[in-house]
Amino acid sequence: TSLAGATFKAKVNTTPAATRGYASGVRKVTLIPGDGIGPEISAAVQKIFTAANVPIEWEAVDVTPVRGPDGKFGIPQAAIDSVNTNKIGLKGPLMTPVGKGHRSLNLALRKEFNLYANVRPCRSLEGYKTLYDDVDVVTIRENTEGEYSGIEHEIVDGVVQSIKLITEEASMRVADYAFQYAKNNNRKKVTVVHKANIMRMSDGLFLRCVRDTAKKYPEIQFEERYLDTVCLNMVQNPGKYDVLVMPNLYGDILSDMCAGLVGGLGLTPSGNMGLNGALFESVHGTAPDIAGKDLANPTALLLSAVMMLRHMELNSHADKIERAAFETIKEGKYLTGDLGGKAKCSEFTNEICAKL
Ligand code: NAD
Repeated sequence: TSLAGATFKAKVNTTPAATRGYASGVRKVTLIPGDGIGPEISAAVQKIFTAANVPIEWEAVDVTPVRGPDGKFGIPQAAIDSVNTNKIGLKGPLMTPVGKGHRSLNLALRKEFNLYANVRPCRSLEGYKTLYDDVDVVTIRENTEGEYSGIEHEIVDGVVQSIKLITEEASMRVADYAFQYAKNNNRKKVTVVHKANIMRMSDGLFLRCVRDTAKKYPEIQFEERYLDTVCLNMVQNPGKYDVLVMPNLYGDILSDMCAGLVGGLGLTPSGNMGLNGALFESVHGTAPDIAGKDLANPTALLLSAVMMLRHMELNSHADKIERAAFETIKEGKYLTGDLGGKAKCSEFTNEICAKL
């Protein structure tokens, strides 16, 4: 399969900002609607933002890979230019071909924009029953290297090697982001998650970088924990954790486990923070089984968009939208199928708009 036929149908409001009555200071945001359920949930977010009078203008771009002069497929220049200019974007899920074809477009985007920290907040939602009601953790994952560096080779027939790359530069960068995040969001504690007892050099370097960074933030409590211990504690007593920082692979896995604790992928947002910009996206994929049926839960993308608004310092709009979404979930009358309800994506969206 190729991405050539990727759907791209989200409705974009092309009315000039001034005629929509926005105050001056309207900012453009790049929108990548994505594949599968992407266009449906993107349209839901746009509808809610319009109802909440958020002073931003969407610039929708197509990221369907195009063949470059070197014959290789890559992200279209127009999409790259849009993110580079706007410095902020919202992204729906993108389909990744398995085993063949071009590389993951998600990885390509992370590399292109040097999105070095992946931030995933997971919080128990009032009124939505899960095993625990006190989960409130933020995983911060190094997003550019580790086991996902893409350095793999076959040494001899039947023996392969994947290199885990850890650099001081990337480790210091993500460590500093984690402590800054804790400080700016009134968080009390940062836990570094590692296996430096086994991977003494790679995780050892990562650990040292976070330890050194911690000294610069005496007001934030700091602890060091092994990955296996954190997994055990997370399913038995998740309330003990606050902000977690870790290398790429551990973050990928642990953040999905955290998502499971609060109700699943339909609810969990994320932000990819870069040196020159940030891209916000839901954690889930394209959900091909329910695509095009108006059944998707738009909450994860909506909460990603709320994170984006806070990043843009549009806090009152963020609070208003978040409150309306949480109230709709708490009431439980218009829940989508993944949350045990029977509502369509559009009905859930309309209910949020009505509560704004
Ligand atoms: P998936 O997340 O798309 O779906 C897993 C299950 O969760 C499905 O049953 C799906 O219906 C359900 N689900 C997911 N999001 C939902 C939502 N918002 N509302 C209701 N139900 C929802 O995972 P998958 O099936 O393993 O992957 C499908 C495709 O998505 C693959 O091509 C994969 O590579 C891609 N993917 C992309 C991203 C991304 O763009 N960030 C992330 C993960 C997977």
